[in-house]
Amino acid sequence: MRNFISLVVVLGLMLLGVSALGASRLDMVKKRQALIAGVKFDAPPFGFVDRRGRNVGFEIDLARYLAKRLGVKLKLVQVTSKTRILLLINGHVDLLIATMTHKRERDRVIDFSITYFLDGQKLLVKKNSRIKTTRDLAGRVVATVQGSTSERNIAKAQPKVRILTFQEYPMAFLALRQGKADAVTTDSTILLGLKKGDRNYEIVGDFFSSEPYGIGVPENDSKWRDYINFALMDWWDSGQYQRTYAKWFGPASDYRMDLTFEMEVWP
Ligand code: GLU
Repeated sequence: MRNFISLVVVLGLMLLGVSALGASRLDMVKKRQALIAGVKFDAPPFGFVDRRGRNVGFEIDLARYLAKRLGVKLKLVQVTSKTRILLLINGHVDLLIATMTHKRERDRVIDFSITYFLDGQKLLVKKNSRIKTTRDLAGRVVATVQGSTSERNIAKAQPKVRILTFQEYPMAFLALRQGKADAVTTDSTILLGLKKGDRNYEIVGDFFSSEPYGIGVPENDSKWRDYINFALMDWWDSGQYQRTYAKWFGPASDYRMDLTFEMEVWP
């Protein structure tokens, strides 16, 4: 009897394995003729909505590149830092290109591509405020977003700060503008995006975290993950990464920042 049960279990597992193999997201995307990408609408200059109501940003361009390479249409679905992992697990999106740091903890429930952007956390404050580092935040109020690493990192870096959390980054910036918060904290490039050349605000202090961005993909689908990884490497090798970077962060852009990152490209 016990042998029979083991046999059933083994057969069951094999079947599961086979169906999982057959149901790669890559095949589903091709069959559907559309890539459903979970992106940010609240994180300039990665994913945001411009004055004309269009979804734009560095990560939106990356999503467009992937859809074009796949030869399918692109459908963008808004995710927030709080909702993104669940939306991927539930199958609502095929991948997440959403300012998401590759954390080992997150890797327990989803998988990640290689790193396509490297950042770290800083503070955005009113110009000439007395806040220069996380040390100066003791007894003050800091605004950030729910479900972000920023929320966790700042609590560790300054246990005496009061943290106001919002669903989206522009709301956190609004709290700073309205004097409800003394600082906004998240990845420095998002802070640069929120500030967007406003001289009344400045980004201060050293990085107090490391935030390597990876594309989130469903757990245990290596066919899909390989496809995404190879596409990222080709994006870099072809010079298209550098061109897209210059478009968003180059000297003529609103978010000027030199490219110091180098993608891991396998031979
Ligand atoms: N990269 C950080 C994170 O993954 C902060 C930006 C965000 O909220 O997406 O949580």
